[in-house]
Amino acid sequence: MAYIHLFLLFLRPMERTDDHFRKVISHAREYGYIFASSEIYDGLSAVYDYAHNGVELKRNIREYWWRSMVNLHQNIVGIDAAILMHPTTWKASGHVDAFNDPLIDNKDSKKRYRADVLVEDHAEKIFQKAQKEIEKARKRFGDSFDEEQFTTTNPRVVRYLQERKTILERLAKSLENEDLADVKALIEELGISDPETGSKNWTEVRQFNLMFGTKLGASAESAMNLYLRPETAQGIFTNFLNIQKSGRMRIPFGIAQTGKAFRNEIVARQFIFRMREFEQMEMQFFVRPGEELEWYEHWKKERLHWHLSLGMGEENYRFHDHEKLAHYANAATDIEFNFPFGFKELEGIHSRTDFDLKAHEEFSGKKLQFFDPEINESYIPYVVETSIGLDRMFLAVISNALQEETLEDNSQRTVMKIPAILTPVKAAVLPLIKRDGLPEIAQKIIETLQWDYNVVYDDKDAVGRRYRRQDAIGTPYCITVDHQTLEDNTVTVRDRDTMQQERIEITALEAKFREAFSYKKWLSKA
Ligand code: ATP
Repeated sequence: MAYIHLFLLFLRPMERTDDHFRKVISHAREYGYIFASSEIYDGLSAVYDYAHNGVELKRNIREYWWRSMVNLHQNIVGIDAAILMHPTTWKASGHVDAFNDPLIDNKDSKKRYRADVLVEDHAEKIFQKAQKEIEKARKRFGDSFDEEQFTTTNPRVVRYLQERKTILERLAKSLENEDLADVKALIEELGISDPETGSKNWTEVRQFNLMFGTKLGASAESAMNLYLRPETAQGIFTNFLNIQKSGRMRIPFGIAQTGKAFRNEIVARQFIFRMREFEQMEMQFFVRPGEELEWYEHWKKERLHWHLSLGMGEENYRFHDHEKLAHYANAATDIEFNFPFGFKELEGIHSRTDFDLKAHEEFSGKKLQFFDPEINESYIPYVVETSIGLDRMFLAVISNALQEETLEDNSQRTVMKIPAILTPVKAAVLPLIKRDGLPEIAQKIIETLQWDYNVVYDDKDAVGRRYRRQDAIGTPYCITVDHQTLEDNTVTVRDRDTMQQERIEITALEAKFREAFSYKKWLSKA
């Protein structure tokens, strides 16, 4: 059977631009990844639904995280706490008083922004100027380029980096002191304008609490004011002692959880990057006081390795240590990812001290301490947290995966190079034509594989078009049943990335898939 072999003329991963971002959003909709929530009523701002392919990708990301954090750590266990919690939880955690974002409105455009984000974006632009100088010099000097020396001695680069540092330090200080007038002054001094209209006509900066309120109870008088949880962490803290005792856990140990969180975000314009209802994957690691910073470094490394194991490009990640620490932290960093709109937080790693457990002890009047037999002492453990947004990880995966390639015959193909372990569909089984017994063999293959993998059957259109459809979804393999199959029980397996086909025995498919989709293989890269 003559298949058309098309080899890549050149690979052109899309650049990270607005244009690319627009394509990611429309592709996600067209291929059943993400829809706007309640779209028939024109949607709800910053709330999204995951469609048939999206829900599979999301499940797979969650599974990849859970296996790595829970199954591969004997001292980490899972939990699934309720979204609704006793309202005192949020008094104790500080969310009622301090879960605020500084907002600013533009009087001309009527657009609302986070004041801190406006300043941070301005600082990032200055940083990018420094990066440009460094890249130019790298090209000019070639192999002899010494980045460290250049960064510390080139006057222009030194000036840019210093400028950025001064701005971020001042922002951190004024936020720390809740000096919102100074945040406004900083915006004016830097000449920051409305990113959409260029207007500099700003209101004062005000604080805005991000929690969604709701009520529990039937009658208006007796109803209790509740909040939808703004983070999953507190359900772990309030259960700390239950888990420690029933699970006979000894410090250091961790509790992991995935679940919904809700924030009434001021600015929610970046698709699923900033949503009002989203999902977090969090792990709180309880340690002996004084050992928290060692564990903080440990988890920084582990979490970065987890990301790198997916092979989405080392250059797309960086750490960003916090200048301004949250009220509960003594060290904090973000793992930032190179999204289509630049490097932004994907995951937070925080050394939360004993702030939460201590506060819950105070507010509940219950002891939340661990008796450490090794040192014969009771103490409130310190906590190191790793917290990643599942939806943000989803966006990182799809925006990095979507590529347009020009093939040898000058045709274009759109392909989602999603890490194979995460793809919604692992294989499509395609009978070359709809007769001669080929569909029946294809169905049999599906029946064998579907126990372990999400596989689909497709017999519509010419086989080339079916390949393209699967490329656009990100399916790593297309298994084609043709007339040779009738003779020797072999099929062709086409690889999404290379578009090469190999002919293998039907009985060898399971072994091939076990190898390709082995968690052990993927996660041990970390
Ligand atoms: P940001 O600075 O972007 O608002 P954050 O520092 O408030 O984020 P954390 O409270 O540390 O975020 O939450 C942990 C993780 O949860 C973040 O790294 C992010 O991946 C995810 N996350 C937070 N807010 C949202 C949101 N509104 N939509 C989607 N994911 C979110």
